Amino acid sequence: MALIILESTKCSLCNKKLKADDEIISWSAFLMPDHKFGKFSNSGMHKSCFENWKHKDEFQYLNSYKPYLDFNDSHIKTMIEKHGMPDWLKEVQAFRKTHPEFKP
Ligand SMILES: [Zn+2]
Repeated sequence: MALIILESTKCSLCNKKLKADDEIISWSAFLMPDHKFGKFSNSGMHKSCFENWKHKDEFQYLNSYKPYLDFNDSHIKTMIEKHGMPDWLKEVQAFRKTHPEFKP
């Protein structure tokens, strides 16, 4: 998850500071920096800003699909062999199975 420092970190959508009593959504770094939504991955945003964002659905879709996650990557394979598949990885795998048409 993105590191959010309240009263300092800014909402990646409206650019206003995130305050302690705001409803905040924090995203992990799931996109490359040069992706069109790269600056929103690994960021925090107001829940209300996200709800009104025109790219909300596409972004949420990308977050579920994690297009840059490679199940054949040696680090991933080793992790699964050693520790089993974590729930978040199972969720990605399940999402991909039900959305085979997705093109990152
Ligand atoms: Zn905002």
